Amino acid sequence: MVTALELRIVEKVDALREDMLAFLRELIRIPSVNPPGDEYLPCARLVDDGLTALGFETRFVTDEQHPDHSPERPRVNVVGRLPGRSAMPTLHFNGHTDVVPPGEHWTVDPFEGVVKNGRIYGRGACDMKGGIAAALFAAAAVREAGVNLHGSLEFSATVDEETGGYAGMDVLARKGLIAPERTSYVIIPEPFGPGRICLGHRGVYWFRIDTTGRTAHGSMPFLGVSAISQMERVLGRVESGLIPDLQTRVTDMPVDPPEARRATINVNGITGGQPVEGVGSPCVADRCSAVFDRRFLKEESFDDVKGEIQVLIGELTEADRDFYAELTDLMIVHPVETDRNAELVRTAAQTIEDLLGTPADLVASPGTYDHKHVRNTGGVKQCIAYGPGLLHLAHQPDEYCEIDHLLKSCKVMALTAVRLLGAD
Ligand SMILES: [Zn+2]
Repeated sequence: MVTALELRIVEKVDALREDMLAFLRELIRIPSVNPPGDEYLPCARLVDDGLTALGFETRFVTDEQHPDHSPERPRVNVVGRLPGRSAMPTLHFNGHTDVVPPGEHWTVDPFEGVVKNGRIYGRGACDMKGGIAAALFAAAAVREAGVNLHGSLEFSATVDEETGGYAGMDVLARKGLIAPERTSYVIIPEPFGPGRICLGHRGVYWFRIDTTGRTAHGSMPFLGVSAISQMERVLGRVESGLIPDLQTRVTDMPVDPPEARRATINVNGITGGQPVEGVGSPCVADRCSAVFDRRFLKEESFDDVKGEIQVLIGELTEADRDFYAELTDLMIVHPVETDRNAELVRTAAQTIEDLLGTPADLVASPGTYDHKHVRNTGGVKQCIAYGPGLLHLAHQPDEYCEIDHLLKSCKVMALTAVRLLGAD
């Protein structure tokens, strides 16, 4: 049931429609493309202006030591706090300001923010500048409706999510700005759509295998050991042994699409021997490297996940004295999942049902996002992704967000904030 006070906020969101679109258009017009991580400062300033106008106390936060932080491409995050009557509970909205490169095949300018047919187009319209706009205007609607919050509201716009978030949300968590003592709930407005709540994501293990052979004249390959053939055997074992095994492992997390409820592995890239442009010289390849992307389930332990790769290499080594391979860890992200009975999830789900008239869909993500930093580094247990847009449009040409989605999500976020924090 929606109260009179809540109704006032909902009406305020509708009244702020044009302002929200103008803000979002301005944000889309900043080409904050990552990689390499362009134009973060203008994004931080724009969000900062919006927060300051609402009475938030703001600051810029950067990790000066981060290798990607440079004078040309400063990794600037902005964090704001709107103190309520009491410090806790605190609800923190976090959005990432980076977007992936636009790529080809756009029919509109990806950095214009074209509005047509009830949609706003542009790189980041759904992933996730639309989410930042909806969350910011949720705070604006609460303020402008003259509502006083009991708890406190926080807002951050952070960098580099598309490349792991280690100069972004991870910095906030490492600096103690996302921590159980000061953060009760976190909402990340990734584009799952107005009716869906994302509880978390699978784990990630990126690793490289390097095989080493022995070079010889290419006309007499029997005199050498081909590192490419050695890699072929690794791939053969992955295809015939590991993948069928992974397909039998199914998580009880509600990952969408359902195919991604199984453990998976992908070869992200492979290189070996000489460069293939031009003719080259006749040599047996003495080196080959492949990068693997293993997505693991909360039901699997990381030690087992890595262990089965070590066993695979060990067995090949034992069977052939010419086989030599090395395993290197590249990235490890442990799975995260917020309890579906947590206050944050129940409140957001009830608000969705009250406002949209249909029960909320609880899902989990096949891929990782900034939730990992909130949970694994910050130690905050209640975190969801909830925001406007359609996930399958993210990273695509002609990315857009339905304006109706922006308004609905904005209303849900505003009322969720009021219900979690208390208000009069
Ligand atoms: Zn995103």
